[in-house]
Amino acid sequence: MKIKKDFDLVNNNTYKVHTIADYFMVPESISELITLLKELKEKNAKYLILGGGSNILFATPRYSGYVISLKELHNYTVSKDGHISAECGVMLPVLARKALDLGLEGLEWALGIPGTIGGSVAGNAGAYLCDIFTILDEVTYLDENLNIVTQKAKDIPHEYRHSVIKDHHYIVLKITMNLKKGNKEELESLAKDRALRRSSTQPLDYPNAGSVFRNPEGLFAGKLIEDLGLKGYNINGAMVSKLHANFIINYANAQGQDIAKLIYYVKDQVKEKYNIDLIIEQIIERG
Ligand SMILES: Cc1cc2nc3c(=O)[nH]c(=O)nc-3n(C[C@H](O)[C@H](O)[C@H](O)COP(=O)(O)OP(=O)(O)OC[C@H]3O[C@@H](n4cnc5c(N)ncnc54)[C@H](O)[C@@H]3O)c2cc1C
Repeated sequence: MKIKKDFDLVNNNTYKVHTIADYFMVPESISELITLLKELKEKNAKYLILGGGSNILFATPRYSGYVISLKELHNYTVSKDGHISAECGVMLPVLARKALDLGLEGLEWALGIPGTIGGSVAGNAGAYLCDIFTILDEVTYLDENLNIVTQKAKDIPHEYRHSVIKDHHYIVLKITMNLKKGNKEELESLAKDRALRRSSTQPLDYPNAGSVFRNPEGLFAGKLIEDLGLKGYNINGAMVSKLHANFIINYANAQGQDIAKLIYYVKDQVKEKYNIDLIIEQIIERG
């Protein structure tokens, strides 16, 4: 296992904020992860599970505890008949690309989502009216007592951008899914259109962590924010994107606390003007 002390998380979060973790641990196998978690539980130590860091804001200069990166748990297999088995640290776009190369249908929406399988299951990541729970078969996770549980995904409560895995701080270890054969050319063309759409509607040139707020039912958070004239509004290097108002970008060395301040400012404005309580999609971690 790789272990680093006083480690700057800047390259492990897509907002690119500098937060120093007391310890940064990178287990290289599931059994190493379980041993580590048992030790930390025994010591009653504080820890945080990190995937791609693409849905999290480190809002304080320091994380006092252990950050456990699961990125090295990245074994996967994809068979031609569509059976997929993947560890939690596999990047979603890597798996989606592999499936597409084999002409398998069902993961093409995931190509532009820069997170791991584990993070995506925890938050039920999705796009274009699809989400990961729709295509999962089984999920193997650690429960609160570190028991290994394998469950059919359909039996795990989940909803739009949310799953019970997150509520209970379960840790996703691996997943399986079964995709069907599709028309490779059509899938490639769809993927290309969507990549173009993303690059023209999302501020991909600046560090960000995707949509800040969940869309309220029947509404678009970005539209509500844009209608308040908040595009471009900024606090110390953090800015509401001029391209897509539901994205906040780190355009000039913002600190986590600046981004958090801006998120809550936008939330308060929406509450005040529309009486709508926007739900923050991202995890705000306060050390
Ligand atoms: C440019 C951009 C575009 C995006 N577009 C989309 C989009 O279209 N749709 C969408 O849904 N999201 C989108 N996102 C957000 C993000 O990529 C997803 O939410 C992704 O699934 C997060 O995965 P992660 O591994 O980065 O999670 P992290 O940010 O590392 O962690 C997020 C949360 O999940 C927990 N977690 C991580 N791994 C595990 C695990 N193995 N078991 C249990 N909990 C775990 C963490 O503890 C944390 O609470 C986008 C982000 C960016 C930067």
